Amino acid sequence: MTKQEYLEKVALANRYSIAYYVNDEPLVPDAEYDRLFHELLDYEVAHPQDLAQDSPTIRVGGKVRAGFEEVAHKVPLLSLGDIFNQEELENFSQKITDEEGYSEVEYCAEVKLDGLAVSIIYENGLLVRAATRGDGKVGENITENIKTIKSIPLRLIGEHIPSYLDVRGEVFMPRDGFNAWNEKARKIGGKVFANPRNAAAGSLRQLDSAITAKRPLTFNAYYIGECQGQSLPDTQYERLVWLKKLGIPINPLTKIVKGLKGLEDFYKDIAQKRDSLNYDIDGVVLKVNEIAVQERMGFTSRVPRWAVAYKFPPQEEITKLLDVEFQVGRTGAVTPVAKLEPVYVGGATISSATLHNADEIERLDLCYGDYVTIRRAGDVIPQVVGVVQEKRLKDAKKVVFPTKCPVCGSDIERLEGEVVSYCTGGLYCKAQLKRSLEHFVSRDAMDIENLGGAIVDALVASGKVTAISDLYLLSLEDLATLPLEGQTLSGKTRLLGSVVAKKILNNINNSRKIDFNRFIYALGIPSVGQATALLLARKFAGLKELMQATKDDLMSIPDIGPKSAQEILDFFKEPHNKEIIDRLVLKPEEYILGQGLTLMPLKAQASDTLGALPLEGRTYVLTGTLSSMDRSLAKEHLVSLGAKVSGSVSKKTYAVIAGEAAGSKLAKANELGVQVLSEDDFLALLQEYGILSN
Ligand code: NAD
Repeated sequence: MTKQEYLEKVALANRYSIAYYVNDEPLVPDAEYDRLFHELLDYEVAHPQDLAQDSPTIRVGGKVRAGFEEVAHKVPLLSLGDIFNQEELENFSQKITDEEGYSEVEYCAEVKLDGLAVSIIYENGLLVRAATRGDGKVGENITENIKTIKSIPLRLIGEHIPSYLDVRGEVFMPRDGFNAWNEKARKIGGKVFANPRNAAAGSLRQLDSAITAKRPLTFNAYYIGECQGQSLPDTQYERLVWLKKLGIPINPLTKIVKGLKGLEDFYKDIAQKRDSLNYDIDGVVLKVNEIAVQERMGFTSRVPRWAVAYKFPPQEEITKLLDVEFQVGRTGAVTPVAKLEPVYVGGATISSATLHNADEIERLDLCYGDYVTIRRAGDVIPQVVGVVQEKRLKDAKKVVFPTKCPVCGSDIERLEGEVVSYCTGGLYCKAQLKRSLEHFVSRDAMDIENLGGAIVDALVASGKVTAISDLYLLSLEDLATLPLEGQTLSGKTRLLGSVVAKKILNNINNSRKIDFNRFIYALGIPSVGQATALLLARKFAGLKELMQATKDDLMSIPDIGPKSAQEILDFFKEPHNKEIIDRLVLKPEEYILGQGLTLMPLKAQASDTLGALPLEGRTYVLTGTLSSMDRSLAKEHLVSLGAKVSGSVSKKTYAVIAGEAAGSKLAKANELGVQVLSEDDFLALLQEYGILSN
C-alpha cells in the first residue's frame, strides 16, 4: 500500500465510522470494516512515521449527535482489542502468563453483546444520569431514554448501596423483539432495521424518549467505572455478582476459567450456543479476573491491556446479487428471492436469500449486480439487509417487481393495504397448481408417497393433472407413460414406467381413507396449518358442518382470530374450491374413478361439545434445535393442544423443551427447577394426543 492509498483508506474508514456511530446507518457490514481497520493497523505498524492523526485506530467510537446534551465521562469508556484466531489467543494468554509468572491465570470470561455501550450513574442508589460512550471521553446524555428500559433499576436494592456508582454495560435488542419489530414494520411500512445492534443504537439515541419506550430494549452490565462509599470485591467476577445483588442485570453465561485451555473451551462452548441465544453476540470478552492485576497492566489510549475481544466469524457479509427470482407459491403469493454469489456467513454458505416483497425491493433500492449485505443469524432465514451503494455499477438496472406472473403471464395484483402481491392465475397458473399438489400429497397431509416434486412437475406439464382431484382419475397407464422432463434414456425422454406407477397408484388409492384433520390441512386453506386443521376437525363433526360454519363458530376456537376465520370462509365460498371438494368427497360418483374420499373423524371427538384442551393452562418454552421439525411447527402443535408457548423461562413455565445445543434457557430451567423435556419426550407427548402417529 502506498501512503496515498493509506490516507484514502483512512478517509473511507472514517466515513464508515460516522455512518455507524453517529447515524446508526452502517454503509458496510462489520466484517468489511474490520478488514479495512486491520489493513490500516498493519500499515501503521510497518510505517509508524505515516500515522494519520485522524486514523480510526487511535481513537474510540464516534461523536455526539446534534441535539443531545454532552456528558463528560469522569472515567473514560474504552474499546477492546480484538483477536480472530487461535494463534492470537495464544499470544494474548502468553503475554498475561509472562506478566504474572504462571500459566493458570484466572479469567472472567463473558459474552460480547452486540449492542451499544452506556454508562449509568447512581447517586445514593438513585439513577441520576446515563450516557453513551461517544468518543470515550464525551458521550450523549440519554438519561430519560435509559429510564424507559424495564430491566434497568431506577433505584438500587439491598443493604450496600454506594453513594456513587458508575455502571458500564451494553444496551441491546433481543432477537425475538427485533424480528417481531421488523416483521411488523414490513407490514405497515415502518422503519426496518438492518440488525439488532443498529436497532438498539437507533432506538436509544432518540431525542424523544417516548420512541425509545416503544422499542424492546434490555441491558446487561459488565464493568464498574467508579464506586464511592462501598468497598468493592477484588475480582471482576465478584464485582458482577455484587452488581446483581444491587438489582442490576448481568449476563448469565459469565464464567471463571483458568489458563489458555479454559479460554479455548469457553470460546468453543459459546460459539456452539451462539445461534440458540435470544440475542446477538459477536464474540467473547476475556478479562483477567484479579482487579489488582488489571490495575497493574493498565490501558493503552484506546483499549485495556488485560482484556481482549475474541470475535466469532461474522453473521453479516458482502456478496454480489446475481439475479432475482420471482417465485410463485401455493396461494399465488409472489416472493422475490435474491440469487447470490455464494458467500460464507453465519456458519453456512449462502447462495440465495429472501427479499420478502415489492416494498422491500423498493426500500433496499436494489439493482442487478449490486453488492449487498447478507445477514444470517440464529434460525432466521438469510436476509438481504442493505446495498453497498458505493460499489454500484454506473449503468446498473433497477430490480422491478413484475406486473405479470413469470409462470403463467396472468396479472399480478396487490390488494390495498397488503404487502404481498398475488398471481391472479389461480390453478390455471402451473406454479400454483404444482405447489398445491405438492402440499396435498405431502407427508403431513394426504401422505401419498413416491409422488415427489419431479413427478408432480411432469403430471402438470403433461396436462394429465389440471386440478388436485385429477390425481384420483389417473390410471396405471397414465402414470406409466408419464414423460419425465429433462431425463433421457438413449436420446429419448424417459417415461415413469409401470413399477413406480403401480406404487404411486397404490398410494393414491390408500389415501382415499384419510383422517379428517389431514384432509382439512391438505386443502391448503390460507392460515390453516396442521394445528388449526386439528382444531377444526375437533370442533366440526364433518366436512358439511365445517363448510357451513359461520364466522362466530370459527372464532369460538382458540387461536382462530377474525382474519383466519375470514380466510376459511372465503376459501369455502370460492366456486373452484367447492368444485374440488365435490369431486373428492361430496359427489365423487360424478367425477372420479372408483370411490371418493372417506374422511375419518377424530378419535377424541365423541360429541360436538368440546372439553378443555389437554394442555390448557400450561406454558412451554422451546429452546435449541429440534431435529424432527422446526420451531414454528412445534409451537403450532403445542398451541393446538391448548398450551401457551413463551420465549422466556420463569417459575410459571410448565416445562422447557430442549433440543440440540440448548443454551441459557435450559440453564435457567435447571436453575428454577422447571422440568425439562427432551425431543423424544416431546414427540411422545404429541403421539399421546394423536398429533403424530405412533
Ligand atoms: P468493539 O465493539 O469491538 O468492542 C468494544 C465494545 O464491546 C464495548 O464498547 C462494549 O460496548 C462492547 N462489549 C460487549 N460486551 C462486553 C463485555 N462483556 N465486556 C466489555 N465490553 C463489552 O469495539 P468498538 O470500538 O465499539 O467498535 C468496533 C466495532 O464496531 C467493530 O465490530 C466494527 O466492525 C464496528 N464498526 C462497524 C462499522 C461499519 O461500518 N459497519 C464502522 C465502525 C465500527
